[in-house]
Amino acid sequence: MKIARIETFLVPPRWLFCRIETDDGVAGWGEPVVEGRAEVVRAAVDVLAEYLIGQDPLRIQDHWQVLTKGGFYRGGPVLSSAVAGLDQALWDIAGKTYGAPVHALLGGPVRDRVRVYAWVGGDEPTELTEQITAQVEAGFTAVKMNAAGATSPVTTPAETAQIVARVAAARDVLGPHRDVAVDFHGRLTVASARRVLTELAPLHPLFVEEPVVPDHDHLLPGLVATSPIPLATGERLYSRTDFLPALTAGIAVAQPDLSHAGGITEVHRIASLADTYGAQLAPHCPLGPIALAASLQIAFATPNFLIQEQSRGIHYNKDADLLSYVVDPEPFRFVAGHAHRGDAPGLGVTVDEAAVRAADRTGHAWRNPVWRHADGSFAEW
Ligand SMILES: [Mg+2]
Repeated sequence: MKIARIETFLVPPRWLFCRIETDDGVAGWGEPVVEGRAEVVRAAVDVLAEYLIGQDPLRIQDHWQVLTKGGFYRGGPVLSSAVAGLDQALWDIAGKTYGAPVHALLGGPVRDRVRVYAWVGGDEPTELTEQITAQVEAGFTAVKMNAAGATSPVTTPAETAQIVARVAAARDVLGPHRDVAVDFHGRLTVASARRVLTELAPLHPLFVEEPVVPDHDHLLPGLVATSPIPLATGERLYSRTDFLPALTAGIAVAQPDLSHAGGITEVHRIASLADTYGAQLAPHCPLGPIALAASLQIAFATPNFLIQEQSRGIHYNKDADLLSYVVDPEPFRFVAGHAHRGDAPGLGVTVDEAAVRAADRTGHAWRNPVWRHADGSFAEW
């Protein structure tokens, strides 16, 4: 069996899919994308595809070596995401060829269901209360929220109070038996993070995510040492090597993205590395159905797994959603806040190929917003 054809599809709301077809007619799907840079990753996939055409698709590990190291210059979000999507598609082909779900090929399941959380976005505490109530009624046992917009380099008392008020509003609805995770998108400086983390601690967040940008991960040891709240990071880290300093610093939760950090092959290894530091895995996934399917396969096969992100109802998604490109929504039917393990081969998701091809004709040009502080200077989004 040889790889005969590799295609990419730029589909709304902001995704890129790839499809690898073999000369035996087996097709595997992947999701190689960097949000806001999808066209750039598409070009990277096209270049990497030159090597893969004519190769045996089942030599995934060897292909991963060549795709990540064979170009001499290596790493970074674009290349690692291109490899990630191709890697997902190769695992999908392997599963379909061997007649087994990917989690079986990774050593078999270690759990029957996977806890997932829902996003809530509301900017006002009242909106937030309504959104969290709706997610609790839908059965979710955990939500994640952004706690702050553009934030001053040293937070004012009012900014700190507003952050605490938003998380307190969430805790009020959730009670003590459900969880709230708080994502700062790197919008705090280390100084502000110290102040805010201390104030948030009594509200007992599940974790605080990206309190500072990854550029400041060398300062994580001090932040971990002074934070009573478990810290999480990793959606902007792309390999084991990138994760090592954060894990050494003592982060509690590693959040590799299956579509950014080298795919199933590398995230499986990042999970093992995290385990040696006592850290839990919570894969980042605000993306589409293929990335989520790949994440769930890892979750079913990873002992040190905490919780899975998923994008249903996420505020970024306009024009299309998680279920827009799948034939059967069953893998993403969450019961009591959990995804349940299936035994379909490969990634376990059936892509609606006609819908994908039609959506690619529209495409998208999604870019993340550029934020400014009140004085006109650049602000982290
Ligand atoms: Mg995040």
